[in-house]
Amino acid sequence: MGISVIMKFISKNEKDTFNFAKKFAGQLQGGEVLCLIGDLGAGKTAFTKGLAAGLGIKNTITSPTFVLMKNYKVTSSSPLRKGRLGGVNIKHLAHIDAYRLSGGEHLFGIGAEDYFNHPECVTVIEWADRVKDIWPEKVIKIEFKIGKGDKREIKII
Ligand code: ADP
Ligand code: MG
Repeated sequence: MGISVIMKFISKNEKDTFNFAKKFAGQLQGGEVLCLIGDLGAGKTAFTKGLAAGLGIKNTITSPTFVLMKNYKVTSSSPLRKGRLGGVNIKHLAHIDAYRLSGGEHLFGIGAEDYFNHPECVTVIEWADRVKDIWPEKVIKIEFKIGKGDKREIKII
């Protein structure tokens, strides 16, 4: 058998996607690489914003389309730190946007692999299908599909 779907969520609007990701952040332990796949406007950045909020990151999250990677610090005021949620060891969120890439070697050039599976870091890769050649062995694949109007289907595999 191939891959099995472990979670499917139908989002009704952007806020819904944000809140879903915010909650999902509480499931993370640190060391995860989240591979986000979906068309432009599917909600990958909206999801990342929610994830960051769930980790207690106060910074504004924007797509790092031109810088390729941004690294955000989880502050001590994080809800995770207060022990209400899972991954107390998460100290960083590395946000990668592979939109302009057609392979992952460029990401290795900027040291992205240092973040992969680092126990204190959660890595999010938007347009991850474009850099499949450098995926670590274990990833969480998150697929976004655009539905009617503001509907989005989010599958976590
Ligand atoms: P991506 O990073 O996948 O290109 P963004 O998160 O940057 O997508 O943008 C998603 C766009 O779609 C935003 O303009 C947002 O307002 C809109 N949108 C509409 N419905 C949703 C939804 N259910 N979830 C996320 N974004 C949505
Ligand atoms: Mg984006």
